[in-house]
Amino acid sequence: SETILAIQNLSKIYKIKTHPFSLKYAWLKAVNDVSLNIRKGELLGLVGESGCGKTTLAKLLLFLEKPDQGKIQWRDTLLTGLGPKKLKFWRRLVQPIFQDPFASLNPKQTINQILQEPLLIHHLGDSRKRNRAVNQVLTEVGLSPKLKTAYPHQLSGGQRQRIAIARALILKPEFIIADEPTSALDVSVQAQIVNLLLESQAKRQITYLFISHNLSLVANIAERIAVMYMGKLIEIMERNQFLGEHHPYTEVLWSSIPRLERKTKINVQQWGEPPNPLSLPSGCVFHPRCKQKIEICKKEEPSLKEIKPGHWIACHLF
Ligand code: SF4
Repeated sequence: SETILAIQNLSKIYKIKTHPFSLKYAWLKAVNDVSLNIRKGELLGLVGESGCGKTTLAKLLLFLEKPDQGKIQWRDTLLTGLGPKKLKFWRRLVQPIFQDPFASLNPKQTINQILQEPLLIHHLGDSRKRNRAVNQVLTEVGLSPKLKTAYPHQLSGGQRQRIAIARALILKPEFIIADEPTSALDVSVQAQIVNLLLESQAKRQITYLFISHNLSLVANIAERIAVMYMGKLIEIMERNQFLGEHHPYTEVLWSSIPRLERKTKINVQQWGEPPNPLSLPSGCVFHPRCKQKIEICKKEEPSLKEIKPGHWIACHLF
């Protein structure tokens, strides 16, 4: 289906001290030449270990960080290069949901204030309409409108994440970036929050970028999965390709999912420590940990190639 958001050759490089007391700097390629098309109405999972660049990519798409290179285009509008005023429409269309609802909700505001704020910022509705919108969205996320007078600390973790979702939904977004939205929650609450996101996706036709370290969770809900490693996209696959052949790194991720363990942390330690992000390996970034490497892997970087319709892999074996 139709591409709604096109990401082209996006890069973000940070200048970082090599050691806290050092005067030397090195370059960290947090997002390294990423290209990805997101389709209207899909739930696209973005998976990788912590530090792989997935949160930086989210920040670039939310324009919380500025890319050093590349383009982001929403439908026909090139977003990169727009000034803050012209970007305001985008700040309404795209909404984030973060991992820790406690950190993202102002503790001094009531739930009513928290939910009304986005409407006020975007000058939407009069006070009667805003009140109605708050009641509606609270009901939609499964909470009683009576909670309006409560403060975040009076709610449970699951309720707070429902408030964060309500705050995102109240602006009627077309695109939601959910960055580890269930990782801070109890296992028993995680499924409820995932179901709530899926309901909103179906009901409101929202496009989702669902970011997680948890491949088993993402494989259950996503229509496509993109895998990130050391700032690079190394695989993009469709649902019917989840069981097929994969990039050696993705294979590691699949095989590290214990069958009965639900809340799985990606554990690839047994394949060696990840390389130092400040000095990336030559050739394929995965080669120091790859069991299947061949001669060329150390010298030449593999590019992302479409090996079957919709299935992209960056590996010399394909
Ligand atoms: Fe392994 Fe080589 Fe493929 Fe990289 S390109 S994943 S080192 S086989």
